[in-house]
Amino acid sequence: MAIPPSAYTGRFAPTPSGYLHFGSLLAAVASYLDARHHQGHWLVRIEDLDTPRNIPGASEHILRTLEAYGLHWDGEVVRQSERLVLYQDVIDHWLSTGQAYHCDCSRREIIAHDGVYPGTCRERQLPAASDHAVRVKVSPQELGFDDRLQGRFSQNLASSSGDFIVRRRDGIIAYQLAVVVDDIAQGVTDIVRGADLLDSTPRQLWLYRLLQQPAPRYLHVPLIMRHEGEKLSKRLGSTPLEPEQASATLHRALRILTPQPPAELGAAPVAEQLQWAIAHWQPQRLPAVRQILESTQG
Ligand code: GLU
Repeated sequence: MAIPPSAYTGRFAPTPSGYLHFGSLLAAVASYLDARHHQGHWLVRIEDLDTPRNIPGASEHILRTLEAYGLHWDGEVVRQSERLVLYQDVIDHWLSTGQAYHCDCSRREIIAHDGVYPGTCRERQLPAASDHAVRVKVSPQELGFDDRLQGRFSQNLASSSGDFIVRRRDGIIAYQLAVVVDDIAQGVTDIVRGADLLDSTPRQLWLYRLLQQPAPRYLHVPLIMRHEGEKLSKRLGSTPLEPEQASATLHRALRILTPQPPAELGAAPVAEQLQWAIAHWQPQRLPAVRQILESTQG
């Protein structure tokens, strides 16, 4: 897909529930290369709303590691924890127009419906209460998009999630809402991220529609696993990246993301490796799958 070079803003949006590990580095490098290949802006946003899951020091480690890997961002780092009023304003608006409603259903009741919310509270008109969740109404129609790598992807939200949560019962703003509000506010045109978020995308498209804003382009890169079923994820305790290993680890990332980087590039400084990779970035050559095994050779 041809992208006009002047009209590109991308971002990396890590959650500080863990340190930067190899799996999240791949998402960061892919979004960075795509942005710079299109002479676009590249932003960093810390998605720190789920405060019980935040790990002290993780944001600083993530930012320090990005810099050590030569992944320099444009502008100020945005932290979602400083933007709560914005999200609440959107929720209040939807509550006032009837596009969202309060819900006191327990997780257990929803699991009983295979995780698809059956709409129990839709017409109950529950009043605001601090332990009520807020859900947005969805309509029963296919919602799809053309991912730049994965192709056409669509879901009918009524049967895949049902009316979904934008503010949790514990008062925490849901990722689905915050990510859309911020990507709109920051003028993000292109989202490059891991394919674990493919299933979230139709819900996010629905929110773009409710907010009457154009959706961005998406590119979901495969997640890397070492063995069948083992994702390189912070949740599974992957090791934090060491800034001192930047050259070798970046080369390992480029071997996965770009066509055959020259072996001697592995000893080059990160800036030189990134320059090569920006020029050779061809994401359409990545496998159009959700997960790949990292080859042990090479
Ligand atoms: N904060 C999300 C995560 O770390 C990523 C959000 C996104 O790229 O849309 O999984």
